[in-house]
Amino acid sequence: MSELRVHLPAFRHNVATLAAIAAPARTMLAVKAEAYGHEMLPVARAALEAGADSLAALEVPAALALRDAGIRVPIFAWLHGADTDFRAAIAQRVDLGVSSREELHRITASTDEGVAAVHLKIDTGLHRNGASVEQWPALVTDALAARDAGRIRIAGLWSHLADASPEADAAARAEFERAIAVAGELGVPLEGPDRPLLHLAASSAGIREPEARYDLVRFGIAAYGVSPFDDVDGPGLGLRGTMTLRAEVLAVADGRAVLDVGAADGLPPRCSGRPEPAQRSCSAAAGHACSPSTSTP
Ligand SMILES: *Cc1c(COP(=O)(O)O)cnc(C)c1O
Repeated sequence: MSELRVHLPAFRHNVATLAAIAAPARTMLAVKAEAYGHEMLPVARAALEAGADSLAALEVPAALALRDAGIRVPIFAWLHGADTDFRAAIAQRVDLGVSSREELHRITASTDEGVAAVHLKIDTGLHRNGASVEQWPALVTDALAARDAGRIRIAGLWSHLADASPEADAAARAEFERAIAVAGELGVPLEGPDRPLLHLAASSAGIREPEARYDLVRFGIAAYGVSPFDDVDGPGLGLRGTMTLRAEVLAVADGRAVLDVGAADGLPPRCSGRPEPAQRSCSAAAGHACSPSTSTP
C-alpha cells in the first residue's frame, strides 16, 4: 500500500510567501501537468485563495477544465497543437500565448466568438518556442493589424528564461527589453490602459532577480515547495513541502528498506533507491512526472 498526500495548507503558505516576494508584480501560478502532479482543481483554488491572481495552464484543454470548474480569473495557455480549439478558448476568455504568425492566424480565424486576448512570445534563448528576433517584427505587425481589425487584444508581451546562469538570464532580459522596444516602435502602446502585461520570470528569477519580475511572475516549482536553486533548499527559502509519499516497508536488508512503491505508482525511475523526501532532484522529478492520475505501470 502506498499513499500520496497533498498538503494544501503548505501550498497556500508557499503561494502567499512567493506573492509577497513578487509584489508589486502579480503572481500567476503554474498548474500545468495536473499542478505538478498534485491534482489541478484543488490546487488552482488554493492558489487563488492564497493570493495568486491568475493561472498558467499550459494547454487550452486544461484551461477549459478550469473554466468548467467555475474559475473566473485570467487563465493563460501557450502550448498549442494542431487540433487546439481556439474557438472554445476565446469563448471562455482564455488568454493565449502566441509564438508565430501561423498561430496568430489560426487564432484570428477563430474570433467569431469574441476578441482573443493574446500574449506575444519572443524567444530569448530557451529555443523551446516563441518568435525569433528575426520573426518578431512581422509577428508584432500582424498582431497590430488583427488588433485594428477588432479580432484580438494584445494582452501581453512575454518570454521564458532558461535559468541556465545569472549571465544567461541577464542576456535574455536584454533581448526581452529590445523586443519590447521594437514592439513599441511598431505601435504597441507601452503606456496607458491598453499597455500589454510584460512577463518573463518563473520561480528562479521571480525569487532572485527583481529586475525580471516586470508585471507578473509565473511561479511553478517553488510553490510546490521545491527550490529552483542548487545552493538552498525549499525550507531555506521559507517554503514547505506540499506532498508526502507514504509506503509500507516490505523488507529491510543491508540497512536499506524495500518500499511498496515504484514506477507503477508514478514514481520516476530516478527516485528508486533514494527515498529521502527532501532529495531535490527526486522531488523535482516527482513534480513533473509523479502524478497519481498519470502513473503508468
Ligand atoms: C513551467 C513554466 C513556468 C513555471 O516554471 P517554474 O520553474 O516551475 O517556476 C513558468 N512559465 C512557463 C512558460 C512555464 O512553462
